[in-house]
Amino acid sequence: MSRKALAVQLSRLARFATPDAQGEQYATEGDVAADLLWDAYMRGLLDGSVVDLGAGTGILGIGAALLGAEVTLVERDPEAFAILEENVRALGIEVTRLQMDVKEYATQADLVIMNPPFGTRETHADRDFLSVAFRCAPVVYSFHKSTTASFIRAFARDMGFAILDALPVDFALPRTMEHHTKRRARISVTRYLFARDAAVASAGSAGGPRNRG
Ligand code: SAH
Repeated sequence: MSRKALAVQLSRLARFATPDAQGEQYATEGDVAADLLWDAYMRGLLDGSVVDLGAGTGILGIGAALLGAEVTLVERDPEAFAILEENVRALGIEVTRLQMDVKEYATQADLVIMNPPFGTRETHADRDFLSVAFRCAPVVYSFHKSTTASFIRAFARDMGFAILDALPVDFALPRTMEHHTKRRARISVTRYLFARDAAVASAGSAGGPRNRG
């Protein structure tokens, strides 16, 4: 599968019907998801087990499965979970689905990919997700609001993780969260690639660590 074919497949997935402001369901757009997954694929990070924490409608994890990874999707919201199930069935792929709170998740994997809540409504939700991710896997991709960069850097360092990549990305806010509806509001987000200090050499070797911010 090419990067372009992947982006097209992912853009066709069913999306959140009514994004829930409390759960901060900022869905990852198809091309943003495809960029992350292609990066992981080129670094050889999709050869093993992958967990998508707060999977929403499943876009990141489903994409990883399409590229050959052995995937687990974790999502607690019943409505999101139903859409996720629909997307998995429509593609006829095999992935493990767990409807549960991410904070209860403790199974080890080779890689975590996630677009977690940004922690603006539910304080510390971003930190809770990162704690779980850092506990479960040696390599983690995650999106965070760019304004939290200094917190993210300090937290990763304290947890024994290095930042291999920090790439600026624009996210579209769900229409239901917009207060002024003239134009589609955007939010500045950073896509991080973290690796446990001992894993830096191997994770960085395939694509080479880049420094973009
Ligand atoms: N990963 C998806 C969804 C991002 S929105 C995507 O990239 O499009 C964040 C998701 O995390 C939402 O679906 C929300 O329901 C879920 N979520 C928030 N807190 C959670 C928790 N504690 N446990 C499990 N899922 C959670």
